[in-house]
Amino acid sequence: MENFKEILINITYLVASFLFIFGIKRMSSPATAKNGNLISGIGMLLAIVVTLMDRHIISYELIIAGLVIGSAIGAVLAYKVQMTAMPQMVGLLNGFGGGASALVGMAEYYHVSLLGFPDDGGKFLVSVGLSLLIGAVTFTGSLIAFGKLQGIVTGKVVKIPGQNVVVILLILAIFTLIGLGISQPDNMLFFELVVGLSLLLGVLLVMPIGGADMPVAISLLNSYSGIAGSATGFVIDNNMLIIAGALVGASGIILTNIMCKAMNRSIMNVLLGGWANVADTGAGDSSAADKVVKSVDTEEAAMLFSGASKVMIVPGYGMAVSQAQHAVKELMNVLEKNGTDVRFAIHPVAGRMPGHMNILLAESNVPYDKLFPLDEINDDFKNVDISLVIGANDVVNPAARNNPQSTIYGMPILNVDYSKTVIVVKRSMNAGYAGIENDLFYMDNTLMYFGDAKDAISKLVNELKAMNS
Ligand code: NDP
Repeated sequence: MENFKEILINITYLVASFLFIFGIKRMSSPATAKNGNLISGIGMLLAIVVTLMDRHIISYELIIAGLVIGSAIGAVLAYKVQMTAMPQMVGLLNGFGGGASALVGMAEYYHVSLLGFPDDGGKFLVSVGLSLLIGAVTFTGSLIAFGKLQGIVTGKVVKIPGQNVVVILLILAIFTLIGLGISQPDNMLFFELVVGLSLLLGVLLVMPIGGADMPVAISLLNSYSGIAGSATGFVIDNNMLIIAGALVGASGIILTNIMCKAMNRSIMNVLLGGWANVADTGAGDSSAADKVVKSVDTEEAAMLFSGASKVMIVPGYGMAVSQAQHAVKELMNVLEKNGTDVRFAIHPVAGRMPGHMNILLAESNVPYDKLFPLDEINDDFKNVDISLVIGANDVVNPAARNNPQSTIYGMPILNVDYSKTVIVVKRSMNAGYAGIENDLFYMDNTLMYFGDAKDAISKLVNELKAMNS
């Protein structure tokens, strides 16, 4: 009977793993993503139900209490959180995942120590060490990332003196302690110190990440949380956790790689943490003094659009904040009715999370084939009559291309300044996420159209409609 139960559990785990992988595959296209999410969710439900049936479960009361409290908090958070605050939320969830892995690893270590370590406990102890290290780093690292995105912790590069040396020494010390913990498992102090130093390491790795580099950190921490889960799967001998953790770890690393390419950063720099070698004083970045800004009102902007045959819309974080995507879709309709060719250029880190712009534009039913990624569209800006920048700033800042002293130098940007005219919709001359000036706003071919994005675009749509009627 026990044997049958074991087989049933493992077969269900296999089915759940298949559903995870199939679900992730379907998430690779916006058209099938929702369905992919559902399929993966069903896989997770199966995995949870079967794990609850497993003989290791001692107290259902505690599990149900945890489930009710956790689900209630999760549901409230998910309903309350604004779309623009999603990266913080993801950051926080990564942190909880890492923290949970470390807690389970430590609890199992204490548990086994009570029973007495088996002679061949090497694999178990290595797994404990890794789950504590990666779990604890993920926990504090993610909390710092959450704080930075939420504005509680400074977004600037914060380094302690001799940062890199300290980090390397800390990593060496942690691995030495793991080695000692494995050779003398009865001395709990070693693994307890691993937890303490790893918590510190998480803080030191993420504090130096500043400017526009946060997306890479978040996706890397997401990957760490998966690897921590996988290591904990080895600790408690649970195949499902090993597989699910490995999937999160691998997809997180792939996403990190994509983000690194988008930001033109090397993954090695990210792994060592805090790669920003340029002093982040903003010294290399220009200042607003003595520069002339030209602005347009709704009527003038509408006149320009009515004479344009090729328009490129470049959305950014401001479109998300003001929820302007529906107005933007309406603008597209009006312009197309006028015979204007309208396309969208999407920067990989526009907004505050990967795919942020794609999600918003899909929500307002802009067809996917009108959205073009940076590398496909960047050579085309010279043929564009008007680039309409809506609440984007860092991703169109020419300093990334022209100014080696700038904190964002090297990050690929959308070349909107190569188009004949640039119209920028934003509320003020304020900086974007990286906190630096943008010379684009002062260029000869740039016109500022000040206002809240939704409001400004709606007015433009109405003006164009009035002109056409
Ligand atoms: P930015 O943050 O550079 O700029 C957004 C601009 O939107 C601001 O300058 C602001 O100007 C304007 N804005 C804000 N609210 C409104 C509003 N209601 N109406 C109109 N405009 C508004 O955004 P980008 O999308 O250009 O760049 C994204 C940045 O975020 C990059 O630096 C990226 O590295 C970083 N990041 C990206 C993540 C990702 O995964 N995509 C995750 C974390 C960070 P004003 O106040 O004058 O209106």
